[in-house]
Amino acid sequence: MRYSKMFGRTTKEAPHDADSVNARLLTQAGFINQLMAGVYTYLPLGLRVLNKIKTIVREEMNTLGAQEILMPALSPKEPWQKTGRWDGLDVLFKLEGAGGKEYALGATHEEVVTPLVQQYIHSYKDLPVTLYQIQDKFRNEPRAKSGLLRGREFSMKDLYSFHLTEDDLTAYYERVKGAYARIFSRCGLDALVVEASGGTFSKYSHEYQVITDSGEDIVYHCKCGWAVNREIFEGKVGDVCPSCKKGMVESHKAIEVGNIFPLKTKYSDAFGLDVTGEDGKLVRVLMGCYGIGPSRVMGSVVEVHHDERGMIWPKSVAPFHMHLITLSNKDSEVKARVDETAVELHDSFERTGIEVLWDDRDDASAGEKFADADLIGIPLRLVVSQKTLAEGCVEWKERSEPADPPPARGGVRGGGSRLVKIEDVMGEVGEWVKVE
Ligand code: ATP
Ligand code: MG
Repeated sequence: MRYSKMFGRTTKEAPHDADSVNARLLTQAGFINQLMAGVYTYLPLGLRVLNKIKTIVREEMNTLGAQEILMPALSPKEPWQKTGRWDGLDVLFKLEGAGGKEYALGATHEEVVTPLVQQYIHSYKDLPVTLYQIQDKFRNEPRAKSGLLRGREFSMKDLYSFHLTEDDLTAYYERVKGAYARIFSRCGLDALVVEASGGTFSKYSHEYQVITDSGEDIVYHCKCGWAVNREIFEGKVGDVCPSCKKGMVESHKAIEVGNIFPLKTKYSDAFGLDVTGEDGKLVRVLMGCYGIGPSRVMGSVVEVHHDERGMIWPKSVAPFHMHLITLSNKDSEVKARVDETAVELHDSFERTGIEVLWDDRDDASAGEKFADADLIGIPLRLVVSQKTLAEGCVEWKERSEPADPPPARGGVRGGGSRLVKIEDVMGEVGEWVKVE
């Protein structure tokens, strides 16, 4: 992809109401554009990241054996009345349609999925059923803020599971925990599994919390892995860990990126969702629900992985694997050679499935191109210039975090960059892309 043709540009201006690192950097780098508080357009760069996160989520859901569906965002009032959430869920967006008929925009989908499943399952033999979707949710958050972290329209993956027995629900719940751990680690996030209250419908739930100062939540935890939400913890920082009895309780701010609930019969009671058991008697179906916010995950990755120059994307969710930069030259013959090399590299990369953003602009200085590359945060940068060509090379530099060691192989030059022979570039990048 040629940057000169890409829709969306970097800008030095920080949006005046950017109240968080992710809102500022994603806007300045041309990933997202705010339409109104809590509502964003994803520009080409941003959409690539969001889609990569959704792909990781989708792969892990499919590995669990869950089946993907897509429910409508618009739903009638009646099921929400049945569960008490027409009035009980304060963030529900309500609309009035023709003839005064009332609707809700999906803030979550128990009210849609439970009656849906009821139409298709009748016998214990039909269970378990596990369905998920990835869709935009709408919540009338009183304070939409922090860029992608708290939106009024945001992306959610919601999975619903239906079981005959509590044992089956519990076993599945544990498998989902495994999938969630893989999802967050693949996205470059270190997420704590935090015990939290189950709201009105179950004894407990589990939240996935990423520790960072920009978080709104507070978690108490110990190095042993024990972690609980502020709402259910009765101790204080410095107490002996109630789990391992050795470590000390710490407390940190954190972002909730996922939440899973053993709903049990909360919604099957509301809709009378039963199946016929083996003995011919009716059995109430047990449910679990499991949410992840891909857009909040995207914002969280930026909160965790950035420096003063810009974002630092983990390879797995970076908009492109590589940023190819050509430095322009007044000498048209030199410029032609630089561009020719870049075209060859660009096309060979694309042919082998390596995603490359080529900064081919003629009207940007080297300094501007490097600053933009740092802001955009693609993990690998290759520079082709008169200087590198004189040595038959391109310059290789990784957008690593300050704490990372410099690249291991080859003659390391100042700033962690090194020269790689043009004939070796394809092979080296191919290897680099493979490493997690
Ligand atoms: P919060 O406590 O932060 O308001 P929640 O507990 O109401 O969130 P859930 O209903 O558990 O959220 O939603 C599942 C997931 O959807 C959350 O873990 C989060 O990743 C995401 N999410 C929820 N609300 C928002 C929002 N307003 N903007 C972006 N993502 C959100
Ligand atoms: Mg939650």
